[in-house]
Amino acid sequence: MTLLPTIDETACAAHGDCVEIAPTVFVLDGDVAEVIGTGPDALVLQAAEACPSVAIFVTDSQSGEQVYP
Ligand code: SF4
Repeated sequence: MTLLPTIDETACAAHGDCVEIAPTVFVLDGDVAEVIGTGPDALVLQAAEACPSVAIFVTDSQSGEQVYP
């Protein structure tokens, strides 16, 4: 399973928690986070769960199913 994160830019408040947890996947670009790469599924999920704004949606790339939130 490969998990793909997507940022809800209207919900992101630029806390930076996702960047701290998964710096190879997320970067802060001004006042919004941006997905810059991929990472281990567990790390992607951990970053999504840590987002205080629930701005990170995670999708299973194979099934297309949304797995978080
Ligand atoms: S943790 Fe959530 S609110 Fe904070 S920068 Fe990442 S996506 Fe945005």
